[in-house]
Amino acid sequence: MAIKQGEELSIHYTSPMLGTMARRSRVRKNWFFDCCCPRCRDPSEMGTLLSALVCQACRREGRQGHLLPALPLDPACPWSCSEQGCSGGESAGSVLSLVTGLEAELEAASSRLEQLQEVLVSWQALLHPQHYLAMLGKRKLLAGLHLCPGQDQGREVLQQRVDLAEESLKVFGVLEPGYTLLMGRMLQYRNGPKMLLAKMDLEEGKMTKAQFMAETASAMRNIRLATKCFEHS
Ligand SMILES: [Zn+2]
Ligand SMILES: [Zn+2]
Repeated sequence: MAIKQGEELSIHYTSPMLGTMARRSRVRKNWFFDCCCPRCRDPSEMGTLLSALVCQACRREGRQGHLLPALPLDPACPWSCSEQGCSGGESAGSVLSLVTGLEAELEAASSRLEQLQEVLVSWQALLHPQHYLAMLGKRKLLAGLHLCPGQDQGREVLQQRVDLAEESLKVFGVLEPGYTLLMGRMLQYRNGPKMLLAKMDLEEGKMTKAQFMAETASAMRNIRLATKCFEHS
């Protein structure tokens, strides 16, 4: 990332991969101040919806509303629905206990991939897909699938690995731009399955040799980019 002359450099006090409630409480506990930065002030966390919950009132009616705190700097502020006219909402206390319970559920499911998959599916009724806990669960799943390539992985699983890596690149590219360790890892996680899918496409005649060569060249560029990320972090 290019830095202009005189530009301020900053580091983060806590993981940018956590939602506002969790980040602010860690900053308070470890650094003794209440963060009021632009991201903490923005309920949507720069549009990433990293803390958004599924609105149950909307869900019952087949709508897609999600809950966020109107005033994220006030830890007691109630959470309300994004859909106009929906009265769905939760108290800050029940959001905290839901998130604490789900955190424990994720911890307990982390060591087994099938269990992790099940937890992530059940969370679709509770959390926005980009909620930070869902994103954490998906990173754990991705790491697990990356580490057991011996397991028979068909097209569907390979595509899932590519999609999960791309989702993390997209969401965290907004919250933590530049050559980050996460970016390096996600590029690394995406490369293998992407090349395997290209190989299948070539063999099945769905891709030309020229397209395959272009995929290979892009994979090489991504490896160089990932190396740069690991060097910078
Ligand atoms: Zn902040
Ligand atoms: Zn709603």
